[in-house]
Amino acid sequence: MKLLPTHKCTPEQYNVITLTEAVLNSVDFKGFIWRTKFTELGDLQDCSGQDLYNKFFVNDEYHFSWKVVPRPWYKRLSSVVGYTVGTNIFTYEPRYKTMTIPEKAGHLAHELMHILGFSHSVQDCPERARSLPYQVGDYVETAVKLMTK
Ligand SMILES: [Zn+2]
Repeated sequence: MKLLPTHKCTPEQYNVITLTEAVLNSVDFKGFIWRTKFTELGDLQDCSGQDLYNKFFVNDEYHFSWKVVPRPWYKRLSSVVGYTVGTNIFTYEPRYKTMTIPEKAGHLAHELMHILGFSHSVQDCPERARSLPYQVGDYVETAVKLMTK
């Protein structure tokens, strides 16, 4: 699969996108999706890992935009890293600046899972931590950490 940003990104963002793409295309990632139990899948709860992989991770191209935006004053105390609307990913600038490259890749992967249609609870709970966006984000962060050290 190819991750194709529809807007101009910074060189660092392109680097993060390339690293994230490499992980999502890896055989190890396929195995991870095949064997991992995900919560909060809704209608897909009964799908096997293989079905999930074949349905969501084998498209040729994924188009999205990724913008780093200021955090509005009324959200200045929130720990949220960013959000996704449709195929547009927004990351709050103060958080973006403090994140490492692996953390940025994990964040990007998490938001990409929202673009693919996966969601999770708003409230922090054990089910949310085991949802697909969170587990894929954690997986990509760890894999990129290993690739870049
Ligand atoms: Zn999320």
